Amino acid sequence: MNKNIRQYALHSLTEFINSDLKEYSSKRNYDYGPNNRKNTSNLSKFITHGILTEKEIIKHSLAKFKYEVIEKFIQEILWRIYWKGWLEKRSAVWSDYLKNLNKLKKELNCDQNYTNAINGNTDIPCFNDWIHELKKYGYLHNHTRMWFASIWIFTLKLPWELGAEIFMKYLYDGDYASNTLSWRWVAGLQTKGKHYVAQSWNIQKFTNNKYSNIKLVENPLPMNENQIYKEAFLDFQNIDVKQYENFVIFENNLSAENFDLFLDFKNIFIVKNVNHRKLDYDKKVMDFKTKLIEDQLSRIENIKPVQIIDISELKKIDISMSISLYPNVGENLDYLIKNNIQIKFIYRTIDLVSYQFCNKGYFNFKRNIPFILKKIVA
Ligand SMILES: Cc1cc2nc3c(=O)[nH]c(=O)nc-3n(C[C@H](O)[C@H](O)[C@H](O)COP(=O)(O)OP(=O)(O)OC[C@H]3O[C@@H](n4cnc5c(N)ncnc54)[C@H](O)[C@@H]3O)c2cc1C
Repeated sequence: MNKNIRQYALHSLTEFINSDLKEYSSKRNYDYGPNNRKNTSNLSKFITHGILTEKEIIKHSLAKFKYEVIEKFIQEILWRIYWKGWLEKRSAVWSDYLKNLNKLKKELNCDQNYTNAINGNTDIPCFNDWIHELKKYGYLHNHTRMWFASIWIFTLKLPWELGAEIFMKYLYDGDYASNTLSWRWVAGLQTKGKHYVAQSWNIQKFTNNKYSNIKLVENPLPMNENQIYKEAFLDFQNIDVKQYENFVIFENNLSAENFDLFLDFKNIFIVKNVNHRKLDYDKKVMDFKTKLIEDQLSRIENIKPVQIIDISELKKIDISMSISLYPNVGENLDYLIKNNIQIKFIYRTIDLVSYQFCNKGYFNFKRNIPFILKKIVA
């Protein structure tokens, strides 16, 4: 990756649009292995951190292709926002996940089944390969994530929460909503009674015959839970930012210079969070985040006074004069709430428009995509 990460990400986007987007819908489900990833965009680590925005990806893609030709890609791009909006409306799913995870970790006590899984010592060769791949590359193909999670839950019979934690530990694109809710979806908790069950024939086909005759539990029952998560009303409204001096950037919005009102602020603070996390991250992931934050600084330091601060230092700046793009449900928002740091938030238009459709399943959201596009791609 060259010095300016955003330039690199934009270049990757252009390459993908020009060479591979046209065939995305027919080829995207194949995992050809870590050395052949051209059938999907590989942009997730940039989108998670806001280096590229969903809006610009959609805009660039639609500049080259008609909507009908790339509908599937646009649906996938917006899926992340759907998960985010869904979790915003049911944030207890996130806090319960953390509570259960803590409890499970205390009970683990060197569980051999778990240790075998995270070290790639199970009887399932493809699974062993994938855990090594995850650790080495910080990435797994989407279909492989689904197989991995399904095998973890239904064949290895391990708690989904621990699997979701392992993904967050190693993925460069780790995203609180996409990860937590995708694991719940595989388990059958997200769409009640509908689980995703990995099948040997499907793995064989979509890994291009790399694996065959895999011994899996192929007829399990979906998981269930007693908890009912009621949908909360989101009072997200944008305010006039003129009176505020400081613009605070969290790690989910690391291309602040593209935000319309960026130039209106006097000071910019980029927040890093090393010690106030609830999940455990691999050093490679933390180093990656640091690199992205430093890259954001280097892109704006000649335009505005800017500094990187630790999240604990937020208390030292004048919060009443500060505005931030909303950090979404997750560790940074948890820190702000816990420490009563009442910074004012503003929201991206794409989120405000989309979240109203995050009440039911993704099928309903999908039907509203043409409406969302009309509002954001003017
Ligand atoms: C169990 C599980 C856990 C996951 N955890 C994460 C995670 O922590 N972070 C993360 O970014 N994605 C997660 N995903 C979604 C998806 O696997 C990745 O976004 C995708 O594999 C990234 O590769 P890509 O950029 O080449 O995707 P592409 O196929 O090129 O898709 C383009 C973009 O659309 C979005 N997207 C695609 N598929 C999905 C999806 N199923 N759900 C939500 N958004 C999607 C991503 O932003 C992606 O970059 C998870 C999926 C599963 C099944």
